Amino acid sequence: MPLPKAELHLHIEGTLEPELAFELAARNGVPLPYATTDDLREAYRFQDLQSFLNLYYELMAVLRTERDFEELADAYLARAAAQGVRHAEIFFDPQAHLSRGVAMGTVVEGLWRALGRSEERHGVSTRLILCFLRDESAESALHTLRAAEPYLDRITGVGLDSAEVGHPPAKFREVYEAAAALGLRRVAHAGEEGPPEYITEALDVLGIERIDHGLRCVEDPALVERLVRDRVPLTLCPLSNVRLRTVDTLADHPLPAMLEAGLLCTVNSDDPAYFGGYAGDNFDAVHEALGLGQERLRELARNSFLAAFLEDDEERRKRYLAEVEAYEFGA
Ligand SMILES: [Zn+2]
Repeated sequence: MPLPKAELHLHIEGTLEPELAFELAARNGVPLPYATTDDLREAYRFQDLQSFLNLYYELMAVLRTERDFEELADAYLARAAAQGVRHAEIFFDPQAHLSRGVAMGTVVEGLWRALGRSEERHGVSTRLILCFLRDESAESALHTLRAAEPYLDRITGVGLDSAEVGHPPAKFREVYEAAAALGLRRVAHAGEEGPPEYITEALDVLGIERIDHGLRCVEDPALVERLVRDRVPLTLCPLSNVRLRTVDTLADHPLPAMLEAGLLCTVNSDDPAYFGGYAGDNFDAVHEALGLGQERLRELARNSFLAAFLEDDEERRKRYLAEVEAYEFGA
């Protein structure tokens, strides 16, 4: 039985496995520039964030209908459950779909068909987080938030993702203020490829409650001190960092030093179909490459539930935390 954990940094579009991509392409009559799933897997060798993003957006073309989004999310939830995920907070990128003529309702209702049944089907509770593409304009983000307003009963929070460098958090001040006024939780990618200043800015200007990645905080001791003091969670994605060359090898990952410093770190999969593994694979990888022992793994699992947006269901959080404490490794 795998260690129970929450996944807090997961882009649903990044769970599109080559097999499902081909299936949806055939069903929807969308041509793919790859002959076989092996050719497509070969294309999953990226040089950096931008080369990944290019393929990521290209493949999204196969997602057209509610049923497509349902099948995508259901396939993810099944895989996640098999790796011990008990609670998943799932990002989606509506702008990447709206720009292709797919309506907000198709995306949200399609995802919801899977998320709404996830507990009975997979034993995984869920939250949905709408992400803005930071390489799009601030106006486009505002327009996206407005388009999502009819679906806010399905959406817990907002996030900020895609190409980081050159798109500082402050660009999105207005849309984050609007999201806060709507009662939405706030997270943002910061300090993945961008500098530690972006992390500080996301906290101060956007009022974020959790940092996605945040790896580069280690370059700023005062920032580390602040994050430790304020118990600000970081959603790290070790296998993603290796694939996108944020770190040279997994053995170079600063996770052990970050835990040692007292940071509230969590381990997540980011875009698992592209980066070589789901949540449990990431736990296994840091165990093997970084020598993190069982109690460190338990700490990471505990942190994931502490950092989850479960304030509306503290009984559930308590239950999950009890599962983590009771977990017997190797049993
Ligand atoms: Zn991400």
